[in-house]
Amino acid sequence: MSYSIETISQLLCAKRIGDKESRIDWLLTDSRSLCFAEETLFFALQSKRNDGHKYISDLYARGVRNFVVSQLPDTASFTDANFLVVANPLKALQKLAELHRAKFQIPVIGVTGSNGKTVVKEWLHQLLSPDRVITRSPRSYNSQIGVPLSVWQLNEESELAIIEAGISEMGEMRALQSIIRPTIGILTNIGGAHQENFFSLQEKCMEKVSLFKDCDVVIYNGDNDLISDCVAKNMLTAREIAWSKKDKEKPLFISAINKGTDRTSISYRYLGFDNSFTIPFIDDASIENSLNCLAACLYLMVPNEEITARMAKLEPVAMRLEVKEGKNGCVLINDTYNSDIASLDIALDFLYRRSEAKGMKRTLILSDILETGQSTTLLYRKVTQLVHSRGINKIIGVGPEITSSAKKFEIEKYFFPNTEALLKSEVFSSLRNEVILIKGSRDFAFERISEELELKVHETILEINLNALVANLNYFRAKLKPETKMVCMVKAFAYGAGSYEVAKTLQDHRVDYLAVAVADEGSDLRKAGITGSIMIMNPEMSAFKTMFDYKLEPEVYSFHLLDALIKEAEKEGITNFPIHVKLDTGMHRLGFAPEDMPELIKRLKSQNAVLPRSVFSHLVGSDSEKFDTFTRQQIEIFDEASLQLTSAFQHKILRHICNSAGIERFPGAQHDMVRLGIGLYGVSAVDNSIINNVSTLKTTILQIRDVPKEDSVGYSRKGRLERDSRIAAIPIGYADGLNRHLGNGNAYCMVNGKKAPYVGNICMDVCMIDVTDIDCKEGDNAIIFGDELPITVLSDILDTIPYEILTSVSSRVKRVYFQD
Ligand SMILES: *Cc1c(COP(=O)(O)O)cnc(C)c1O
Repeated sequence: MSYSIETISQLLCAKRIGDKESRIDWLLTDSRSLCFAEETLFFALQSKRNDGHKYISDLYARGVRNFVVSQLPDTASFTDANFLVVANPLKALQKLAELHRAKFQIPVIGVTGSNGKTVVKEWLHQLLSPDRVITRSPRSYNSQIGVPLSVWQLNEESELAIIEAGISEMGEMRALQSIIRPTIGILTNIGGAHQENFFSLQEKCMEKVSLFKDCDVVIYNGDNDLISDCVAKNMLTAREIAWSKKDKEKPLFISAINKGTDRTSISYRYLGFDNSFTIPFIDDASIENSLNCLAACLYLMVPNEEITARMAKLEPVAMRLEVKEGKNGCVLINDTYNSDIASLDIALDFLYRRSEAKGMKRTLILSDILETGQSTTLLYRKVTQLVHSRGINKIIGVGPEITSSAKKFEIEKYFFPNTEALLKSEVFSSLRNEVILIKGSRDFAFERISEELELKVHETILEINLNALVANLNYFRAKLKPETKMVCMVKAFAYGAGSYEVAKTLQDHRVDYLAVAVADEGSDLRKAGITGSIMIMNPEMSAFKTMFDYKLEPEVYSFHLLDALIKEAEKEGITNFPIHVKLDTGMHRLGFAPEDMPELIKRLKSQNAVLPRSVFSHLVGSDSEKFDTFTRQQIEIFDEASLQLTSAFQHKILRHICNSAGIERFPGAQHDMVRLGIGLYGVSAVDNSIINNVSTLKTTILQIRDVPKEDSVGYSRKGRLERDSRIAAIPIGYADGLNRHLGNGNAYCMVNGKKAPYVGNICMDVCMIDVTDIDCKEGDNAIIFGDELPITVLSDILDTIPYEILTSVSSRVKRVYFQD
C-alpha cells in the first residue's frame, strides 16, 4: 500500500520543503537496510549515540529523495528531494503507523511479555497461516521503532496481523498500544519472579497488560498469580482465556502434560471438550509457548484436528549464531546481531557446548550492552553471574560501562575503551587455540574483530588498476540513458580482481547493485563494510539464512527454489524480502519459462515473505553478429513475459537483460537496468582498444642459468632446446592459474618489453622461460598478462574466453590495488 508524499506530509502536519512527486512504499530508519531507494521515506531519528541526519547525504547519493527530519539540512545539495520537517521524527513515524493501522478492520494479535514473544509470534504464524494471509513483525521488531515499521507492513491482502510489543521503560506501552491496537492480547510471561523485586515486577506487568486496553480477548497463564493479579487490577473489558494446569474452572484446562524423549504430549479441555496434541519439544519454555498459541488457535476457531496436526509440525525459531574457523587455531562464534542478557545467555551456553568437546579455552569478547533500561550495576552483576556460571575462562570487555564493572569478574580479564584499542592490543594479537564468542552491540562494529580473526590463506601478485576500472565503468555508463540503473558483476571474486576492493570502488561510484554468484561472496562483502544492494545469482538452498542476515537479494529461477525460499523466510519471520526473477528466453540454463508467468504471479501474490524487485534474462550471444537474430528474439520474448509480471504488481519491478556486450551492441534493450561484467574488467566485444586493461599478472625472475643445447628443461625432459640458451625460472605455476597448455612454447610472457616463451612443462608452482635474447637479471619482472600482453592473446591460444583467464588466477596470488 503506498501513500503519496503529499498525503504523508499532511497526515504528519509537517512542513514540506521540496515539490518532487513521490509514492512511498517503504519506511526506513536504518540506512543500512535501504533497498527500494525511490519509494523510501527515511526518518532521521536521533538517539543518545547516533543521529539519523548524518546519513542523509549518503542516502541521497543512493537515490533516496524523501526524508522526515527535525533539522533541515542545507537543501542546496539535495536539489530534487522532499524534506518533511517535524518536531520529532520518531513521534512522526509512530503517528504515521497509527493512522495506517486505523485503516484495517482485521484481527490483530498483540504479543508481549518478558520472554517467548518472538517464538509465540512465529509459532502462531506457523499454526494460523494455512488459513489466512498474515502480516507479522519481522524478526523481533518490537520496540518504539520496530513496532511502527511492523504495522506499516499491513496491506490490502492482510487478513490477520501478529505484532510483538516490547518495552524497556515505563510508559512506553501506551505509544505501542495506540499503534498496534490489538484485538487479541497474549501475555507470554513475566521474567524471573524473585520475591525481593516483586513490586517492580508488578509495575512492569501492569505496564505490559496496558497493551490489552481495548482487546476483545486476553490470553495468559492463569497459574501465574502475578499475571492474574495484574489482569484483574487492569479491569479489562476483554474476555479472558486463562489457561491452567491446576484449576479445572479456568477457560482452558490443561489436564495432562507428558514429556517423552523428544516430544511432549498435552491434553486439554476447552468449552467442555477434551482434546490433545503433541509438540516436538520437551523444554518448559516451549510447552508454555505452545499453550499460549493453543489458546489463540482455539479463540480463532481453528478446528481441533488441525491444531493437533499443525502443533506436531512446529519448527524451532532460528537463533543467529555463526561459527567460523579463526587464525592461530581459534574457533570464532559470531553473535553480532543483538545484545541483551537473554541472548548473551543463549550464546554462552552455545560457547560452552562447543568448547566442551574440544577442551579448548573459552573466551568472551563482549561490548557494553546498550539500551536495556537497567542500571549498569545490576546489568553487569547479571553478566558476571552468567560468565562465571557458564565456565568462561577469559573475558575481554570493550566499552566504558563494562570497563567500570571490571573488578566484578573473577577470571582472566582485559578491558578496552573501544574496538579500535582492542584491535591494536597485544591481547588481541596473542589469541591462540581458544573458542571465542564475539558479542557486541551494533555501535561497536565487532564485525571488524571477526574479520581480523578469520582465517585467510594466500600470498603472492595480481595488480589491479582501479582507475582503469572506473574509466571502463564510465565508458559503459555513457552508453546508457541517465535513468538506467546498473548492476555490476563482482561474482567469482570480481572476475578474479578481488571482490572487496572492486565492490568498494564501485560503491563509491554509486552503482545501483552489485552481483555475486553465491551467498558467501555476498556476506564477505557485507562483513567488509559494503552496504549497497547485493544480488546473489546462484543462491544455494543451504545459504538462505546468510542471505537474510546480510540482506543479500537472491535470484530466483524455479518454483522449487521459490517455495523453499518463502518457507525459510516465513520461518525467520521475514517479510518483503527482495528477490530477482530470472526468465529463460533461450539460454536454457536456469530460469522460469515464459509460460510459467501466470502461475508465478499467483504464487508471488499469495505470500508476503518475498517481493519481486526485478525481472531479468540473460543473452546467449550478444557479443557476436552471427547471433543477432537470436538475440533480438530473446529480447522480444523477454519484453513480453517480463511485462506480464511487472503489470501484475503495483510496485515498480525493474527489467533487465543486457550484459556488457549487450550494452555496447543493443543499446535499445537497456530497459530499466543493465548488468555490466567483463567490460568493467577490460574486455570489450566491440573494440578492445577503447577500454582499459585492469589486471596485470606479474612475477619476478628467481634464477637465471645457461643451459647447453643438448640438455632439456623441466619435467619429462619436455623442454628441448635448439641452441645454447639462457633459461629463467619464475615462481608461478598451474596452481597459481597459469594454464599448463601455455607451456612448451605455446605462449610467452613479457620480460623487459620482450617476449619470453615458456620452455618445457609448466610446473605446479614454478615455470621456466627462455630469455636468451633478453637483457635481464634475477629480480626483474615477468608479465604474464597485462597492458603489453592482453588477456585475449592467451585466451585465443588456449581456445577459451577471457573470462576463464581472469577467473583462473588462484586465490593464493596476492591482489595489489592501484588508484591515484
Ligand atoms: C556474468 C553475468 C553477466 C555479465 O556478463 P558479461 O558478459 O561479463 O558482461 C550478466 N548477467 C548474468 C546473469 C551473469 O551471470
